[in-house]
Formats: sequence, structure tokens, C-alpha cells
Amino acid sequence: MPDIIYLDNAATTRLRPEVLDAMMPYLTEKYANPSSIHSFGAECNAACEESRKTIAKMINAKDNEIYFTSGGSESDNWAIKSAAYMRKDKGKHIITSAIEHHAVMETCEFLARDGFEITFVGVDDKGILKLDELKAAIRPDTILISVIYANNEIGTIQPIKEMGEIARSKGILFHTDAVQAFGHVPIDVEKENIDLLSASAHKIHGPKGIGMLYMKNNIKLTPMIHGGPHERRRRAGTLNVPGIVGFGRAAELCRGSMEECAVELTKKRNYLIDRILKEIPHSRLNGDREKRLPGNANISFRYIEGESMLMLVDMKGIAASTGSACASGSLDPSHVLLAIGLPHEIAHGSLRMTLSDYTTKEELDYTVEALKEVVARLRAMSPLYEDAVKNKEV
Ligand SMILES: *Cc1c(COP(=O)(O)O)cnc(C)c1O
Repeated sequence: MPDIIYLDNAATTRLRPEVLDAMMPYLTEKYANPSSIHSFGAECNAACEESRKTIAKMINAKDNEIYFTSGGSESDNWAIKSAAYMRKDKGKHIITSAIEHHAVMETCEFLARDGFEITFVGVDDKGILKLDELKAAIRPDTILISVIYANNEIGTIQPIKEMGEIARSKGILFHTDAVQAFGHVPIDVEKENIDLLSASAHKIHGPKGIGMLYMKNNIKLTPMIHGGPHERRRRAGTLNVPGIVGFGRAAELCRGSMEECAVELTKKRNYLIDRILKEIPHSRLNGDREKRLPGNANISFRYIEGESMLMLVDMKGIAASTGSACASGSLDPSHVLLAIGLPHEIAHGSLRMTLSDYTTKEELDYTVEALKEVVARLRAMSPLYEDAVKNKEV
């Protein structure tokens, strides 16, 4: 057994050795500024353009529709803020979902404080956006729809194509945060009517601090970072050459094996889910079983507190994540779990385990045994569980 069983791949992933190999020359001897005119610079620029091509191809975009950024958060901020400020004379209404990543949610809330009106469209009990509610939310002053492609907590994959069609038929810009989906599920920006899309390298075994925004050619968002003429004058700053090269290599490795990986990963994920649901009483799967990211398992255990569970499994060498925002110092349960209709006490007892190609069956077996022990131990100490036993609920 390795020192750590890493089941937090939705938070970040391990850098693939092949990716590091590709990056290494650009961290050492190939250090030129890609904007420099000399051939040394041109060589670094060519490497960046190669990455751009690979990434564009992966979502059926054109090379010049890809803009490198510092990651998913920057891409989300850029897409939403620039679209809002550029179109504010047409209207100040934005539609998003109730299950966005913080990078989208907080950006929308920032805009709300600046005079924009935001509608958060609800989801069903599996976390799938209600298209009727989306249609009904559209107003003459709606300028942007932004919906997460696949959710980072419960893994639900959205009907993006349908949303894109709705947005396009009304002349509304459509942005999707595809950070969790990119590299894991096939994406086609043309077929899916996507105008703006965010992705990030470190969620696909690439380096941290590099991402991209896809911007459809007829849409020219104003820059958010002003300065030099980089990225066709839309995003200033010397290019992160090693990061971009690593991002390209990581994307290339996904592209070559996406289907196979998804099948393998889905098998492992289902094995984990099935064993837990079968062997641990009062557990339930959150999110949709089918329309789901291959590596995501999110499970609620009744009569248990997520943070305690997380700490105890951590002591057993397992890195997972919980549905509560304890990292931010608040004990509010996740907005995503509340949006799918979970009551507070059940949302509190949730654990997210996200797998990768590196996850082994042995690790999953160890995890299930550890969970069984931890859950039994916590329930033995739980007054809620004691009451439930007394009242013959369990
Ligand atoms: C990780 C993540 C982000 C943030 O990306 P960074 O590159 O870490 O800034 C945004 N959205 C989703 C859905 C994510 O999972």
C-alpha cells in the first residue's frame, strides 16, 4: 500500500511523469521569452502554439479561439465579468445554476453587488439543471448564461448542448465551466453551441497555475489583464511556457485514451460505490448514476458528521473531501448538496471520493474497509444514531 491513498482528484491531480518530461526543457535550457523575435524565442513560441493546437482540437475549436490563462478561476472570472460589462447596455441580467463552482458563484455575486441581476436556476434531485426553469428565466435583458459542464462535487454532467441551443436561439452568450469535464468527457464547442469555455491543466494531470478560456471567434471579450500584446491582445503577461507545454502534453495524453480511460475509471468508480452502498447501511449516492463523471463518487452516510469522517479516514492514510465548506471556516453544508434537496443533517454526512487512472482496486478495497470501521465508530458515539435505534428507525 502506498503512503497515501489519493481520492481527491477533483481538487487536483498528480502530474504525469510524461508531462514533467515535456516541461523540463522549458524550465531549464529553453528559457526564452516566446514574444522575443530571435530564433531562441521563436522556438519557445512554437512549443506554445503546438499546445494551443492540441487543446483546440480536443474541443473542436480553432487554434486562435484558445487563450491561455492562469487557470479555471481566471477563465471563469474573465468570461463572466467581461461578458457582463461589455453587454451591460443591452441588459444586466445573468442566468447561472444553483450548483456552480465558487469561481462562478462568487463572480456572479460580485456582479450582483455591482447592479447586475442574477438568476440561479435549480436542479433536480440528481443535480441536472431544469431546462424548463432555464427557459422561463430568460428575459429581454438577459445577456449571459453560465452553467457548469460537470459538477465538481457530485459529478453530474449537464445537458450542455440543449442549453447552448436555448441560449443561441435567443442571442444570449453561453459560457460553461468545463474544468471537471475537459479531458474526461468528449466536448465539441461547435455541436454544443458553446461560446465560452473554461478549462484547467491541473485537473487532468497537468501543472497547476495554467488554464485556458475558449472564446468563439465572433466574440471578442475585453481583456481583464491589461499590458503587452500577448494572446492576440486579449490577455497580457509573458506566457507561462513550461505550464503551457505541460497543459498541451496532459491534454494530448487524455485525447489519446479518453474513451478507454473513462470505461476503466467508471468500472472502478462503480465498484467503490456498489461496495459502499451494499456494505454500509444508511448510505446513499448523490448525483446521477449514468450522467456522471467517470471518477466521481459522492456518498452521504446518515447519522454521521462529514468532518469527523474525513479526519478519521485521513488518519488511515486516505485523502478525500467532504460536502461541507469546512476549509473556508464555515460549517454550512455544500450549496450543491442542498440544491439537490438533501436536508442539512444528511448533507453534513457526505464524503466525496474522486478517482484517477492511478487509483488501484487494492486502494479501493482498503478504503471500503476503512470506511466501514470509521462509520461504525462514529455511529457508536452519535446521539442521533442512538435515538434512531431507540425509535427503531434503523
Ligand atoms: C478546480 C475548478 C476550478 C478552478 O480552477 P483553478 O485552475 O484551480 O483556478 C473551477 N471550476 C471547477 C469546476 C473546478 O473543479
